[in-house]
Amino acid sequence: MTKPPLDIFLAAPRGFCAGVDRAIQIVELALEKYGAPVYVRHEIVHNRFVVESLKRKGAVFVEELDEVPDGNSPVIFSAHGVPKTVPAEASRRNLFPLDATCPLVTKVHREAEIHLKRGRHVLLIGHAGHPEVIGTMGQLPEGTVTLVETEADVARLAFPEGTVLSYTTQTTLSVDDTAGIVEALTTRFPDIVGPHKQDICYATTNRQEAVKGIAGKVDALIVVGAPNSSNSLRLREVAERQGCPISVLIQRAHEIDWTVFGGIRRLAISAGASAPEVLVEEVIAAFAERFEIQLEEVRSAEESIVFNLPRELRDVAMNRIGSLLQTTQPTE
Ligand code: SF4
Repeated sequence: MTKPPLDIFLAAPRGFCAGVDRAIQIVELALEKYGAPVYVRHEIVHNRFVVESLKRKGAVFVEELDEVPDGNSPVIFSAHGVPKTVPAEASRRNLFPLDATCPLVTKVHREAEIHLKRGRHVLLIGHAGHPEVIGTMGQLPEGTVTLVETEADVARLAFPEGTVLSYTTQTTLSVDDTAGIVEALTTRFPDIVGPHKQDICYATTNRQEAVKGIAGKVDALIVVGAPNSSNSLRLREVAERQGCPISVLIQRAHEIDWTVFGGIRRLAISAGASAPEVLVEEVIAAFAERFEIQLEEVRSAEESIVFNLPRELRDVAMNRIGSLLQTTQPTE
């Protein structure tokens, strides 16, 4: 039986960003250097496949530090960042913390602290309950930061006269929604102080731009990512807003609802910043079983950002590079 043709457009950039790559490396290198178990507070990145594969190597995932026994095993803080109370508690208990917070999240933490130091009340644009938001709000004393989720929230804000305002944002928001909220804030509070450069990170921005570029030209778009991954959810929304008739978020190929994709001729695929490329390949392979596929990558930006690893793990990272170089030396 001949298979129907299907053009697949791969959005690029897609998938792992530098912060996720660094966080996963931190867990792997800690396991290599200190041995199992290595404790990880919260999912290191929002992807079940990644978490399960690290579990198999000896990582133990916990939600709170009270689940970590006393001792010398490392405890790693996830890429989303943690409130200040967490490292304080780790130090009180003499635990051995390793911080995998993405440096771009740490930058937002520092910005929020600077605003506070300069006497400004901080408005954090973000999603309630997301670990990054909990971490950023937890950098400041209670009552000095207010969460803003929507433009409607801006209309409801009320502060005592003379309050000096500032704003900062979660790194993984919708670029377009955030622009609307920022506009509402600056219209209502013309003196509000914002970041010099926007806080939405390069990876979120690039992945949304890549999806925008192709979503309007295809019959369907799949985002590979987790339902609790903020940047993956935003990619699906971006596709929908571009008029893509079918836009779905899936974690694995077995979640594909084939009744939805039966009659399509052009499909786009992207992946959230915490989704490994192997899962994109799995989805492509599933389509290749049912369609005669033609693959094309549509790249809208190049990425070359790499973040430094924590000092404690640089020796083992250097050893890894050394053995990699040795194995790739040409033999005589
Ligand atoms: S999505 Fe952005 S902020 Fe989050 S880990 Fe990746 S680079 Fe860092």
